Amino acid sequence: MQQASQNVQTITILGATGSIGTSTLDVISQHPERYRVYAVSGHSQLQKLADIALKFAPKCIVVNNQQDAAQLHSLLPKNTQVQIRHGVDALADIASAKGVDTVMSSIVGAAGLLPTLAAVKAGKKVLLANKESLVMSGQLFMQAVREHNATLIPIDSEHNAIFQCLPLNYQYGKPGDSGVSHLLLTASGGPFRESLPQELESVTVSQACAHPNWDMGQKISVDSASMMNKGLEFIEAKWLFGVDEDSIQVVIHPQSTIHSMVQYKDGSVIAQMGNPDMRTPIAHALAFPERINSGVEPLNFFEQANLSFEKPREDRFPNLFLAMQASRIGQAATTALNAANEIAVAAFLNEQIRFTDIYKVNKQVVDAQANITLDSIDAILSHDKVCRDMAEDVITRVRR
Ligand code: NDP
Ligand code: MG
Repeated sequence: MQQASQNVQTITILGATGSIGTSTLDVISQHPERYRVYAVSGHSQLQKLADIALKFAPKCIVVNNQQDAAQLHSLLPKNTQVQIRHGVDALADIASAKGVDTVMSSIVGAAGLLPTLAAVKAGKKVLLANKESLVMSGQLFMQAVREHNATLIPIDSEHNAIFQCLPLNYQYGKPGDSGVSHLLLTASGGPFRESLPQELESVTVSQACAHPNWDMGQKISVDSASMMNKGLEFIEAKWLFGVDEDSIQVVIHPQSTIHSMVQYKDGSVIAQMGNPDMRTPIAHALAFPERINSGVEPLNFFEQANLSFEKPREDRFPNLFLAMQASRIGQAATTALNAANEIAVAAFLNEQIRFTDIYKVNKQVVDAQANITLDSIDAILSHDKVCRDMAEDVITRVRR
């Protein structure tokens, strides 16, 4: 049963051409009376942006550079009213514009940090898919959320599930005596859950990108195969929910039916379940605290395989354990890990290094970290740059 809609929500989608962006537009298109697209951004897929412009009529589109802006212009009808802009400042502008209520942060990687922060500082409702923002700058990011009274709703399916399983007062950063004992972060284990560590040496890009349960962008698919994704999510959970590392447990659950759980002191465990389709957390976050149709098929329990659970193994998934270690070391280590991993994954996708080299690059960069304090976004960005250069250097030595 659907409630009568309130005012129309205006939305900017950062990264509208990607997997999350596409799912977001799909949910929005099912509820034209509730949502209006204000602005979108894309990077390399200009034809897709032109198609989005024709279907959703945004006021503004942001691309990477002037050349792309001119090309996009040529793909649109001559009489188009849409404003086409380019560059990082333009991304920050569409994330913080007065006419925007909600910002979907779905650019992949560190490129998402500044526009997402711009949305936070403008006090928007921010739907956060870009986990890298929190891995790079968790403390400063959450501080900005509080200072600017932004509403932050996680899109990452695990964190959205935990958000749904927590009491309401906890969700808004006031844990009080909520009785929470542990956050149980589920992981599918990816395509190599049963592979032997030595078999991982020779896996191909298409094997690494073939996730058994979720259809996602290339970078997060490789991260899922190495379980670095779960490591990044461990750090993301720590900042989002204000808990320490000992309160988060990673549980491999190959069926991806349970999207994560909260364990309470009295022995209760609350799980959020559903078919693995990102339109569920997206619809939840868009409509929160209401519920709307997402287009996802209802979960059919009679067609479910048994639900099973395993402990992650360090010899198979060293990246996960490296991320948990970096989380305990602090912000400089997690920023370094994120930077190294982005460079290493790109090198793997370009077939410059082996799948198992991703860990070698990440470990060498994390191990090289001194215990420094990063107390501003500028400091984080310059540390990110230094660590990217370091990772490139390590790659020249491990290159196949
Ligand atoms: P995709 O690779 O499918 O999409 C990424 C988006 O970012 C695209 O719109 C892309 O543009 C744009 N983009 C890429 N590089 C840049 C750049 N340098 N500057 C500006 N924009 C850029 O990724 P996903 O949608 O899979 O993931 C997006 C984020 O959501 C990631 O942080 C990921 O970890 C997170 N996430 C994704 C999930 C999923 O199911 N896909 C689940 C949970 C979290 P273009 O395509 O035009 O080049
Ligand atoms: Mg996830």
